[in-house]
Amino acid sequence: MHADTTLTPAAPSWKEQALCAQTGADFFFPEPGSSVRDAKRICLMCDIRTDCLEYALTHDERFGVWGGLSEKERGRLRRR
Ligand code: SF4
Repeated sequence: MHADTTLTPAAPSWKEQALCAQTGADFFFPEPGSSVRDAKRICLMCDIRTDCLEYALTHDERFGVWGGLSEKERGRLRRR
């Protein structure tokens, strides 16, 4: 959910629980071609991963890692 970015309005309760709020957004919006492995690892430990992924899919978030899935992985889910 990337609480420290201004890309999307975030519910306050999410901000409090989002691990990415503590690590910074850089991991979650890597340069094209960079690894998203570190971001995904952080997401795996995040309590709101499911809500975050649902939010990203609902709001059609195209960039970055959300809820442990990369842009490509979310795209595959949307096409199902
Ligand atoms: S699941 Fe990942 S992107 Fe979503 S709030 Fe947690 S750490 Fe951030």
